[in-house]
Amino acid sequence: MSVIYPDTQLLINGSWRDGAMKRRSAVYDPATASVIGHYAMAEPADLEEAIQSAGTAFAPWRDAGAYARSGILRRAGVLLRERADQLAELITTEMGKPLIEARAEVMSSADLLDWFAGEGRRAYGQVIPARTPNVTQMVLKQPVGPVAAFTPWNFPMSQLVRKLGPALSVGCTVIAKPPEDTPASPAALARALLDAGLPAGVLNIVFGEPAQIADYLIPHPVIRKVSFTGSVPVGKQLAALAGKHMKRITMELGGHNPVIVCDDANVETAAAAVAGFKVRNAGQVCISPTRVLVQKGIYERFAAALAEHVGKVRVGSGLKPGTSMGPLVSERRLKAVSGMIEEAIQEGAHILASGEATPQPGFFHAPTILTGVSLSSRIQNDEPFGPVAILSPFDTIDEAITEANRLPYGLAAYAFTSSIRNSQRLQTELEVGMLAINHTLLGLPELPLGGVKDSGFGSEGGSEAIDSYLISKLVTQAAI
Ligand code: NAD
Repeated sequence: MSVIYPDTQLLINGSWRDGAMKRRSAVYDPATASVIGHYAMAEPADLEEAIQSAGTAFAPWRDAGAYARSGILRRAGVLLRERADQLAELITTEMGKPLIEARAEVMSSADLLDWFAGEGRRAYGQVIPARTPNVTQMVLKQPVGPVAAFTPWNFPMSQLVRKLGPALSVGCTVIAKPPEDTPASPAALARALLDAGLPAGVLNIVFGEPAQIADYLIPHPVIRKVSFTGSVPVGKQLAALAGKHMKRITMELGGHNPVIVCDDANVETAAAAVAGFKVRNAGQVCISPTRVLVQKGIYERFAAALAEHVGKVRVGSGLKPGTSMGPLVSERRLKAVSGMIEEAIQEGAHILASGEATPQPGFFHAPTILTGVSLSSRIQNDEPFGPVAILSPFDTIDEAITEANRLPYGLAAYAFTSSIRNSQRLQTELEVGMLAINHTLLGLPELPLGGVKDSGFGSEGGSEAIDSYLISKLVTQAAI
């Protein structure tokens, strides 16, 4: 690696520093399982300081104006693009994804910053016709206040941008707790924002014990909004805590995303798309396709094409040229994914395809396609969040829709069909926040991103993403 992996400190009121007790914890390279650096851990005193600094910075940032805030976000986007090669190496080193994917994450972070820079300038209110000519009635859109943002390790930079972009653009200040598994890339994003002119205190970054930090920040009266991306169980805990203290929430949680491949689909297009997306980021993507439901007329052909694609995946260090899939992020995740697969096999499932042997050491798992998986197996019910897909046949579209809607998750779904009738039924009946038909491209800045049911609440993309960082204040005024 040409980049030297940095230790990461806390960012409080514009200064990078250690926590009050100088506690540090290790960061691992998932491709070698070795310690590569450390991050500073925040104590309650540090959290209080971060909160006070976000509270003090709020009014000046709100009053700085949308145009000035937009300029800072855009400049940060320019800096990310200029630094893309170096930042991509940082992401790959601490997270594991192949360099090409890490670079794409940096570029998409810049793209998201551009989008939200524009959205802040379009935070329009309303003028409501009055009943009498001397009255003016307006709805003003104003920033909700300081935000507590919790982000995950799978896209350590862009997941944070999805929260910082809308929050900062409309005038909120933020205390972010990025992932402890991958602390350096979110810190590098914060550095780009500071270099672009973000004033001290507008963004504070803390690391430490996640539950302790959440328990301190969420009830605090200065914090007005909570945004979390991560697993359903943690999301429910944080949503309950936020509810208890009447805080607004955005919850972007997990999925167990179905793909419905109908007899009238283009088999090769569908198999290539599913295989390509399944191994992206080693399956550690909330919208990764997992339950692949294939109509019986094309099942054998689809299974053969999928197996062929999966057989070609080259697993290895993300820094090595030619690698198409890197390791999982941590030993914890490797054990979770392999445990679910082993359980399914003990319960009668078969491996249709799995990639070549994985390198050692490191947290690698071969991409795996399972067939004959019992609906009661854990992997059919809990999100695996790894490079594994379950292939199952179906007879009728009704059967596929019932299976797709069986779980409490409702994030993304995919379908491959040339029938408008099938497509219309899926659009109406699938219980998801996002549906892609005949391709898999979701997650662009201009598209809404979010789920229904247990997959969460709110949107982190598109024109609605800024809404949850704004309050509507009615002002009605009579000229006397
Ligand atoms: P997790 O929910 O335990 O952790 C996800 C993130 O939340 C981590 O960064 C962690 O530091 C943080 N976190 C954990 N407990 C917390 C708490 N009490 N308060 C505040 N933050 C907390 O999940 P994991 O085991 O690291 O990852 C696997 C699961 O996470 C998957 O099943 C998947 O559902 C989910 N996940 C989802 C996304 C997504 O994009 N929706 C991203 C990453 C992980």
